[in-house]
Parts: sequence; structure tokens; C-alpha cells
Amino acid sequence: MSSDDLTSLRRGTGRGLAFVVSGPSGAGKNTAISALIARVPGLAYSVSHTTRTPRPGERDGVDYYFVSEEEFAAIVAAGEFIEHAVYLGDRYGTSKAEIARLTARSLDVVLNVDVQGAITLRRVGVPGVTLAFVFFAPPSLAQLGERLRARGSESEAEIAERLRVVAREMKSVGIFDYLVLNGDLATAVEELRAIVMAERLCVVDSA
Ligand code: 5GP
Repeated sequence: MSSDDLTSLRRGTGRGLAFVVSGPSGAGKNTAISALIARVPGLAYSVSHTTRTPRPGERDGVDYYFVSEEEFAAIVAAGEFIEHAVYLGDRYGTSKAEIARLTARSLDVVLNVDVQGAITLRRVGVPGVTLAFVFFAPPSLAQLGERLRARGSESEAEIAERLRVVAREMKSVGIFDYLVLNGDLATAVEELRAIVMAERLCVVDSA
């Protein structure tokens, strides 16, 4: 670094920064993450593996890598997941290969994981990657129930179960660095963008 080049004193873009976004499904999290990635250069989505059946419109390799129980178990056995969890009977996991694929392209990464995944990542970390933890939630559980009903992909019993999970997940908000409440989508996306910018502007630890 030349003495007048100050750019390397801040974290910058594409130097191993990952945003762990957690929060209830149906809170608009996926929509907000897509809008964030479309809007902010240098960001990419970490595609998780899941054993869940694809919803209408979901694409393999884009929304998830849809795999069988056997395939999932083989990846677990090979130690190829950074974290994995069971959510409402289906298995979800973030592979080491997926994170490496994105950071090798000098991209900052957005991980969309449940609260168990965030807790694991907070505990184990990811080598060479700085993690920022964001809890993304609806302003109220009542509003979340309405959104899930409008989506129409779960039964009433499944919605009730999801709301119970969310009530439990809200108790873990203290492990996160940031809280985004999605009352209004455009505002929530702007708040996510502000978080990305703040993390990129952080002064690097020179110790
Ligand atoms: P959905 O079935 O609605 O797509 O996702 C259900 C939950 O699984 C969401 O909270 C989502 O964030 C979470 N999830 C998706 N991918 C992963 C993953 O790789 N690891 C973990 N722990 N959770 C995930």
C-alpha cells in the first residue's frame, strides 16, 4: 500500500464479508434479499441445500439446491456443510463449497438461514469471512399470519406451527447485530442496504 492509499484501511467489498439474514419465512425476507442483491453491486446469494419440496416457481440451483434425504445425509457425512438444521421437518444447510464459490469471485455473500443456523454460525464462525448478523422480522406476529395466509402455500395447521416457531425465534434476537422490521418493503430494503454499506466501511482490524 502506498502511503496515500487509504482504501485498504477499510473492509471494502469482496474481502470475505457475509450477511447472515434470519427470521421467519413469510416476513418478506426472500423478497427483500432479492431486491437488496439486485440493487447493491458485489453481493451474491448463498444458495442452500434443502430436502423440502420446491414451491411453485422455485428453481433448482437458484432458490435452493433441492436434494433427497440421502444426498443431504451424504453431504453431512462428508463434513461439507458449514451449518445445517432441521426446520419443520425438512433439512436445510449451507455448504462450504457455496461460500467458497462466491468469495472466490470477490463477492460479499448473503446467507438466508433460520435462527438455529445463525446461532451455529455465530458460534463456529467461517474461516476468512467476517459475519454480520441481521434479524429480519415482521412488525407483529398478527401481520405475519396474514402474509402466510395470503401466500397460500401452507395449511392453517402449518401456519399455526410456523407462528409458534417464530415466537420462539424472537427470543434469540439478542445474538444478532441488526434488527430490520419489515413494515414497508422499500424501507426494509433500504435498511438492509445501509447495513451492507456500514459493514463495508468498517475500519479493518490491523492488530
Ligand atoms: P423455507 O422453507 O420457507 O424456504 O425456509 C424455511 C426456513 O429455513 C427459513 O427460515 C430459511 O431462512 C431457513 N433456511 C434456508 N436455508 C437454510 C440453511 O442453509 N440453513 C439453515 N439453518 N436454515 C436455512
